[in-house]
Amino acid sequence: MTHERYVYFFGDGRADGSAAMRDVLGGKGAGLAEMTNLGAPVPPGFTVAATLCTTYLESERFPSTLDEEVRRHLKRLEQVTGKRFGDPANPLLVSVRSGAAVSMPGMMETILNLGLNDETVRGLEALSGNPGFAYDAYRRFVAMYASVVFGLDKEPFEALIAERKRGRQVTRDIDLPADDLKALVKDFKRHVHESGGQVFPNDPLDQLWGAIRAVYESWNTRRAADYRRVHGVPDSLGTAVNVVAMVFGNMGDDSATGVAFTRDPATGERRLYGEFLINAQGEDVVAGIRNPEPIERLAEYMPAGAAELAALAGNMEAHFKDVQDLEFTIERGKLYLLQTRRAQRTGPAAIRIAVDMVSEGLIEPEEALQRVPASGLEQVLHPTVDPNVEVDVLTTGLPASPGAAVGRAVFDADRAAEQAAGGEELILVRPETSPDDFHGLVAARAVVTARGGMTSHAAVVARGMGKACVAGAKELDVDLGDRSVQCNGRSVREGDWLTVDGSTGRVLLGKVPLVMPELSGDFSKLMTWADEERRLRVRANADTPADARRAREFGAEGIGLCRTEHMFFESDRISAMREMIVAPDEAGRRRALATLLPMQRQDFIEIFEAMDGLPVTVRLLDPPLHEFLPTESAEIEGLAKALDLSVADMSKVIARLEEANPMLGHRGCRLGITYPEITEMQARAIFEAACRVVAQGHQVFSEVMIPLVAHVEEFRRQAEIVRRVAVEVFAAEGRATPYLVGTMIELPRAALTADEIAQQAEFLSFGTNDLTQMTFGLSRDDAGRFLPLYLEQGILADDPFQVLDADGVGRLVELGTQLGRKVRPDIKVGICGEHGGDPDSVRFCHRAQLDYVSCSPFRVPIARLAAAQAALEERGVQNRTRATV
Ligand code: PEP
Ligand code: MG
Repeated sequence: MTHERYVYFFGDGRADGSAAMRDVLGGKGAGLAEMTNLGAPVPPGFTVAATLCTTYLESERFPSTLDEEVRRHLKRLEQVTGKRFGDPANPLLVSVRSGAAVSMPGMMETILNLGLNDETVRGLEALSGNPGFAYDAYRRFVAMYASVVFGLDKEPFEALIAERKRGRQVTRDIDLPADDLKALVKDFKRHVHESGGQVFPNDPLDQLWGAIRAVYESWNTRRAADYRRVHGVPDSLGTAVNVVAMVFGNMGDDSATGVAFTRDPATGERRLYGEFLINAQGEDVVAGIRNPEPIERLAEYMPAGAAELAALAGNMEAHFKDVQDLEFTIERGKLYLLQTRRAQRTGPAAIRIAVDMVSEGLIEPEEALQRVPASGLEQVLHPTVDPNVEVDVLTTGLPASPGAAVGRAVFDADRAAEQAAGGEELILVRPETSPDDFHGLVAARAVVTARGGMTSHAAVVARGMGKACVAGAKELDVDLGDRSVQCNGRSVREGDWLTVDGSTGRVLLGKVPLVMPELSGDFSKLMTWADEERRLRVRANADTPADARRAREFGAEGIGLCRTEHMFFESDRISAMREMIVAPDEAGRRRALATLLPMQRQDFIEIFEAMDGLPVTVRLLDPPLHEFLPTESAEIEGLAKALDLSVADMSKVIARLEEANPMLGHRGCRLGITYPEITEMQARAIFEAACRVVAQGHQVFSEVMIPLVAHVEEFRRQAEIVRRVAVEVFAAEGRATPYLVGTMIELPRAALTADEIAQQAEFLSFGTNDLTQMTFGLSRDDAGRFLPLYLEQGILADDPFQVLDADGVGRLVELGTQLGRKVRPDIKVGICGEHGGDPDSVRFCHRAQLDYVSCSPFRVPIARLAAAQAALEERGVQNRTRATV
């Protein structure tokens, strides 16, 4: 009768497993097996299967055959090493380490030096000729075992060591004499007994079973479970247990331990990178008690070991065809590899490594595309905080617009504009922002707000301009009167230096050095490969000529959303806009609109010029009106004067315009329905601009987009106005330019009736910001107060305003697309919400057969790469960056 196999041996040049058995052996076990098969110097050992983990955790029992299987492999290990478990003369010592199929750095447990007891320690002492070493190993083992198996805190052990060091007046653990280390073992065991009543196991076999159980149990610790949730690792994977013969990097000055990367994980440069410590055990490197030395210096101490390490690193990389992160130990001059795994790397390094490996003939371009996480491109496109510098974090808010910036704090937009004119670098800090602050945003390098979410005004505008933004930094108490901000007992005054890291949401005190982006040859090579592979088109959300130009530089194939209301945030325009909003009658509105028309036309002229030959989707006005109204008394007085009204009357008009639920109120096409002259003016500006730009010899493909349509009849009436104005303008200008009239699908009803709408509309663009808001019934502006808790508690896996909710909102997208294509098979369908630049959402859009995604200019390369990865995945080319986290 054959039993299911649970234990896999490696050592003596042969392994039972291989890299292909990652699911059973875990990443570490598979790497050890593969290295052994390759003839690398790996200490022998065996792996107990990850497949056993969940059944053990459920039943708290092992299969009856396991005991015999472990004994058999232990015997083999004894034969291979020539040592015996529990032998006082020549003891076998092992490490017991976890390792799941997906790397979960630092999440689970390790025990070193297992097999030591009061007898075997004497064997170790005799063999090494170094009592200090032997008792140091023993006390480390007792403390680790107590912490991992008995769950005791580490601090009391540290305190006992500190007490001994004080007694000897030394500062480093290694300076304690052997007698003290020996005494520490006793102190530790006593502490174990006193704290939990456990007797420390003396028998190495008992020790081993306790350790195996504890490693399996570590799969369910809070931090491991949290890590899995955040990284989408299934709970069912389980961890394997690796039992490996100990080798010692702390046997004297001819011993060392360290880590080595086959290329520089920060820059991607092809050179061995890493660090080591002479006469130390692995945990000392991590613990940071002593400062490790750079790997380049290893050759000064042990030239042969260093040369062998370099050669092995090259072999491992060539074999795995990816950068490896190696752990090594040199025991009395002999090198061992203890681990190899795919190295984590920065965004810039990922690009360089992928492109270099193609030119070195190691991988194909399609593999290279799958090696670079699309989200990692963000690090390449914006300045970032220098990772090698220590920072002082004032607070952390939402990472609302990526990139980093340094400047002096300023608390209002007017002062920001004034000071920027004098050449100051500024960070605008506000409780929240409104269109009134737009000139302040333009003047500042970055913006920080205490309130608001990822799609708040500040966030959307900052992203559009490619400026860093931290929103919703709740701990900030901004005192506008005093021009200061209080935060956790610290205060920042106007003029103080701040550094904003919009990629992580951190607000840092002082001037922190930044690393500037470099759109190198590697970047564009990767992008060219991506463009050859992808099916989805990528457009940009751009509201200004400058944004349009930048979008084109980043490879946008058109503008998918030009939000026209943003054009009116600038100070010379906002007053005309306000006059239009508060005008008591149509004549008044038309007067204000006449002032706005030439400004708007000029914007479109410049945008059309910048996008020569590419489509530009212009969305008609969609502001919640209240956003444009003045709030401060001086502004109200100014507006009253301009309109020849009393302040009291002006205030009444403003009060009348107030809405209980502005997001569900008088916005989108509802505005054009009540004031058709606005739609007329905008259509005129678009078509006049198109005709003038065409007259200069450019090509213009304008697409007029009607926002927030719920019912086809709203669309029909607005489209009628647009088409009528087109006819009028083309007649007057003596030429016609190609154009489409389409709509946004932002409301569930529009998605559900997309077939009716598509009979009238020539394109559909899913506004997934509103569609998410309206489908969840979750306010874009208020969600920041409780949504973080939803994520923390795991109610939602992702923020639905960042990652498209495939199961709910996504279904509406699929349904709307299908319904639309049913009546108009060639109808162009895209999305233009913030999700258009999120890799997971782009993947969804590819699968849903959309024609394009549109996102902020800086995210265009991310969308291009994500679209290529989605296409490759469809062809069955695995995404390695996701498979191995
Ligand atoms: C949307 O709702 O997805 C959209 C793009 O429009 P806005 O964010 O301007 O409401
Ligand atoms: Mg919208």
